[in-house]
Parts: sequence; C-alpha cells; structure tokens
Amino acid sequence: MSDLVPPRMRDDCFAMPQGVAWVPVDDALARLRAALVVVEGTEGLTPAEALGRVLAVDAQARRANPPQVNSAVDGYGFAHAATGSGVQRLALVAGRAAAGQPFAGRVPAGQAIRILTGAVLPEGVDTVVLEEDCASDGRWVAFDGPVRPGANTRRAGEDLDEGALALPRGHRLRAPDLALLSALGIGAVSVFRRLRVAVLSTGDEIIADPALPALPHQIWDANRPMLLALARGWGFEAVDLGHAPDDTAAIAARLDAGAATADVILTSGGASAGDEDHVSALLGARGSLSSWRIAMKPGRPLALALWQGVPVFGLPGNPVAALVCALIFARPALGLMAGAGWAEPQAFAVPAAFAKRKKAGRREYLRARIDAEGRAEVFASEGSGRISGLSWATGLVELPDAAVEIAPGDRVRFLPYAGFGL
Ligand code: AMP
Ligand code: MG
Repeated sequence: MSDLVPPRMRDDCFAMPQGVAWVPVDDALARLRAALVVVEGTEGLTPAEALGRVLAVDAQARRANPPQVNSAVDGYGFAHAATGSGVQRLALVAGRAAAGQPFAGRVPAGQAIRILTGAVLPEGVDTVVLEEDCASDGRWVAFDGPVRPGANTRRAGEDLDEGALALPRGHRLRAPDLALLSALGIGAVSVFRRLRVAVLSTGDEIIADPALPALPHQIWDANRPMLLALARGWGFEAVDLGHAPDDTAAIAARLDAGAATADVILTSGGASAGDEDHVSALLGARGSLSSWRIAMKPGRPLALALWQGVPVFGLPGNPVAALVCALIFARPALGLMAGAGWAEPQAFAVPAAFAKRKKAGRREYLRARIDAEGRAEVFASEGSGRISGLSWATGLVELPDAAVEIAPGDRVRFLPYAGFGL
C-alpha cells in the first residue's frame, strides 16, 4: 500500500474574490476546477467488471494486435514475387489455413493455398487475393494480375504494438474499450474507487414519493430521481438521502448522513438567500459556504460548501435550473473527483431555427432539440418551471455571455444531452 496523502480541501476553497457581484460561468468553472481533488482509493477489476469505471493506471498492450500477420479476407494466398501481370494460374497445395487452424507447412513459390479470414499467413505467403476475384477447381486457382504486394493482409501490430498505450489513466471505460482491453490480453485493470454521490431534496412543499398523495399546495419531488439517475448514469454510486423539510436541524442531520457515506453531496432547493433558504443558511453557519451568484440563466445562486470536509453543491430547487446547473457545474466537477479529469461539454455549431435577443453579461441555456432540417429549435417557453421542456429537449443551446441577437439561420452552440452522458 502506498502512504500517499491526498491534498485536503481548505475551508475557503470555494471562496470567490471580494467584491465580485455576478460571476461569469467560465470563472466559476475555473474556480471549481482548481478547488476539487480526486478521491482516494483504487481497485483491480477484470474488463468485464469495469464498464463505466475510470482507469487509475495507463492500460498497455500485453502483446501486439494482431499478434501475427494474417489474412483480411477469404481467398487464396501466395508469394507475391512469383506473380506478374495478366492471368495468373497457380497450383494449390493440399490443406488450408483458417483462423485458429494455422497451416504447418511451407507454400512453395509459384503455388497458392486456400486461406480464410483471420488465418495466420503460412510460411511462403505474403499476399492474398479475394475469393470473389478467383476461379478455382480445387487443384488450381486463377486470377488477374498484377496484384499489389501484401494485398488483403493485416500486418502484425498494425493496430497496436506490444507495450503501446491502449487507454490512458483517467479514461472512463465504455463497451468498445472492453473489446480493446480484452483483445490486448489485459485481464485486469486498476480503476478508481467509484465516486459516491449523495442526493438530498429540501422544501416544506415537497412530497418525497410520487406514489404518495399530495395536497394542492404540495408538489412531488422531481429533482431527486433526476439527480440520482444522473449520478448513476455517470457511473457513480448514488446515495439517496431522501427529502428534508425546510428545517435546519433536519437538513443538518441529512448532511451528516451524507458526509458519512458519500464523497460529495448534491442538494436542491433552499440555496438562495431568502427567508426560506435553509440550505444556504445552514451551510453559511456551519459549512463555510460560498454562495456563487453566477451570471447565467437559468441558475441563480449556486451554493458551494464543505460539510465535514465533503463538498456540497447546493443546486437551485427549480428542476430546470437544477438540471442545467448539474450538467454545467456538477458533471465536470464530479468527473474530476472520480479521476476522469475535467470534461468540457460536447458542442456543435448548428443553424438556429429561432429568433432571440439577449442582453450582455449573462450566459443563457435554452432547452433545445434538432429539427428535421438539422437546425436547433428551442422550447416555446423559457419559464424555468416548465419541466416538460426538459423532456421535450434533446440538449441545450448555449448563448454566450456577450449580447447577441439571433436570427433564424445564425450559428448557435448546441450541447446534446448525449454529450453530457444522458
Ligand atoms: P427554492 O430553490 O427552494 O426556492 O425552490 C425553487 C422552486 O423549485 C420552487 O417552486 C420549489 O417548489 C421548486 N422545487 C424545489 N425543490 C424541488 C424538487 N425537489 N422538485 C420539484 N420542484 C422543486
Ligand atoms: Mg424551497
């Protein structure tokens, strides 16, 4: 075991410079990135167990892929040097070379052998012609020359050489990566311990479970299932802290439970500076709160604090704002803590299918999707209580901080949900 000690987060790690009123999104992201550290702990897993996990150590090829020169097609193999232009007629040697059934002998120059895809080239063979380009009666094979030397063959190590870097530390393993690791004979990988993400909803009006009855002044908890699903989808272990009413002691008890079982806590609701904003009040009193007034819409303040050394993201209660803040701030932050590094969202420049005018000094995220013509259309209402727009959308349009007037056909940045891992 190593005795390395990870850097500790300082109480004031989330502090913003004095006198800053509205923090631009990019400044807030840069501060967040600088403040957070990777969680401790790794484990060894087989590729089959490692889907969604983050490599803690570079994965290197145990041997070359392919290990030996082999045929890329079903056809006939021979030495190129003995062939020329015009019709070529070569005698076939007895036997064949197939994948997993190498031909033991040598193919004399001027002769050919039946060879199948994936078969190691027998001694004396360096070139293959495709079956469809040949005529054969089982004793002879005929085809038109000239043939390119080495045609239809795969060089040993043409994909990766032995010892080559297959996947770097910090890479999050997807299904195709399991194919690569396995193909290279990598039977075990070292991955970071799974990040544990706790989720808490707050608010006197919130009913925790949609199966329970709700009075007209009550609403069902929309944020917790969404945030727990985000955390799981990102490959983390989701810890459900349930719901707490707007009561400081109740919220503190849930945060204690979160700090004991998780690496990071996401709360929603009560994060502003109003009378009923008990999360920010509590974090301010006991959690070295930094309330970031981020110049973005939707968003309002994002509360960041440490609770018993565990980072807390106080997301807005509004589900639209909660999702946007989770995607823009929590996702890269949690990725960093999980060892995967800081990931910028994937973005495409596409023509707008809408018109809009916005003022300077605030970044805006609109619920959007791509229409049949490949343009970004936006949800009819920007009202941040309109949860149906989140489901209508397949991504967000990001409008820059500076003032813009968008006319149909202008290029805008489209951030697909898929690029956020949704
Ligand atoms: P707050 O941030 O607590 O001021 O809440 C802002 C708005 O979001 C209010 O209309 C809340 O009722 C609503 N809200 C807060 N938490 C949730 C939640 N978990 N699910 C759905 N709506 C919520
Ligand atoms: Mg509230």
